[in-house]
Amino acid sequence: MLKFLKQVGDYAKETVQAARYIGQGLSVTFDHMQRRPVTVQYPYEKLIPSERFRGRIHFEFDKCISCEVCVRVCPINLPVVDWEFNKETKKKKLNSYSIDFGVCIFCGNCVEYCPTNCLSMTEEYELAAYDRHELNFDNVALGRLPYKVTDDAMVTPLRELAYLPKGALDPHDLPADVQRAGLRPEEIIAQAEAAQGKQPEEAK
Ligand code: SF4
Ligand code: SF4
Repeated sequence: MLKFLKQVGDYAKETVQAARYIGQGLSVTFDHMQRRPVTVQYPYEKLIPSERFRGRIHFEFDKCISCEVCVRVCPINLPVVDWEFNKETKKKKLNSYSIDFGVCIFCGNCVEYCPTNCLSMTEEYELAAYDRHELNFDNVALGRLPYKVTDDAMVTPLRELAYLPKGALDPHDLPADVQRAGLRPEEIIAQAEAAQGKQPEEAK
């Protein structure tokens, strides 16, 4: 009999413990239900990177003097500067230049120390590739003009996370009546249709 009562007691204890764990899990769920979304409808919407964003490096071939300062200041000696000495002009002649963005840590040292400012950091951050060797950019790829979110007519550039008030980054504990920084996608469509003189879908 005592053994049976002990089993019932253990079972009740485990039940209470399990209920407590379920309650803890649900409290996290309910907490998240309260907050505002921070979603960006990528790739139709993109956040505008900050002014000092360190994205893909841009290289100007004609300005490079093959000094290799960029290689010496790079923590991993990454840039490959291929040059030869021109005996007639007694100057170095640059043949090719490359940076492997699969290895680069975007520290910006090379850009900072280049004496001719032929390197610069752009806003480009979409560097995904199926093959990591495609991330090894030669001087032609490095010389391409950078992509800008604000120049792409197919993309809605967002300066702030649209659902949060201006300057807010934490979606928790915001009063429901605080104004959003941006518009919801359906509001943007309604605005575009109004600008074209069309009636919004609901009003038809
Ligand atoms: S950004 Fe940094 S890691 Fe990348 S090439 Fe320049 S110095 Fe090297
Ligand atoms: S530091 Fe500038 S000029 Fe010198 S090799 Fe590197 S990119 Fe060319």
